[in-house]
Amino acid sequence: MKNKFVKISLFFFAIFIPFYIATSIAAGEDISFDGNFTQGGLVIGNAPIGSQVKLSGQDVAVAKNGIFVVGFGRDAPMQASLEISYPDGRAEMRTLTIAPREYDIQRIDGLPERKVTPKPEDIARIKSDNYKIGEVRVTISELTDFLSGFDWPVVGPISGVYGSQRILNGNPKNPHNGVDIAAPEGSPIKAPADGIVALVHQDMFYTGKTMMINHGLGLSTVYAHMDSINVKSGQMVKKGDPIGTVGQTGRATGPHLHWGMTWKTTHLDPQLVVPPMPANK
Ligand SMILES: [Zn+2]
Repeated sequence: MKNKFVKISLFFFAIFIPFYIATSIAAGEDISFDGNFTQGGLVIGNAPIGSQVKLSGQDVAVAKNGIFVVGFGRDAPMQASLEISYPDGRAEMRTLTIAPREYDIQRIDGLPERKVTPKPEDIARIKSDNYKIGEVRVTISELTDFLSGFDWPVVGPISGVYGSQRILNGNPKNPHNGVDIAAPEGSPIKAPADGIVALVHQDMFYTGKTMMINHGLGLSTVYAHMDSINVKSGQMVKKGDPIGTVGQTGRATGPHLHWGMTWKTTHLDPQLVVPPMPANK
């Protein structure tokens, strides 16, 4: 009887201990990444549960399952440091190399002058719009809806790319912080990924009818110049759900969707997270 117990115990440990060692080593080193280590790039990380992460000294939210998100802006330096504190007390510092990009210059003429050089009475409205958009961007929810992956919200010719230096009616302005897709007015726009509708606004100064989706961990997307919005704030959306239609409200010279993506307040390039644009129908 006693002998049998020892045998069973030995058998158990012979199986269990190597398994335990193997999984704990794997867990210790197991930080993986998926994404683009480039300016404008989004990277999804997967760390052992209970890890803490900092990007260049700033805290990064880590979901309960160990998933986290980081992003690199248009002019991000070529190196960033990622500090990981593992639940077993070890800490690791990794140097990330961020590939630089070159940006085009885009000239757009024929915009209403007031939309390029706003009147004093427009400034308060612009500030209020920016505040509302900014509030969504800094909301860090526990959602990891971005794991659905992203697809184009609308199919059509790309009429404006991320990062281009803009000269509007001859005036140098901020770089373009999203991607523009030209499509006929009324074309349906689909949610490119799962998320929660975080903002619906019928008339912003620059972006007209505007909506935003919160995808979790500080990742959000914005849809501008829409003709109609058919979702409500707080509504859950699934990848592919209709969210509204293409228009030319706000500052636009023709019907198109401006699609922007941010990690907290850092503008990312949505074009990096989707497959190549399908041929136009
Ligand atoms: Zn745009």
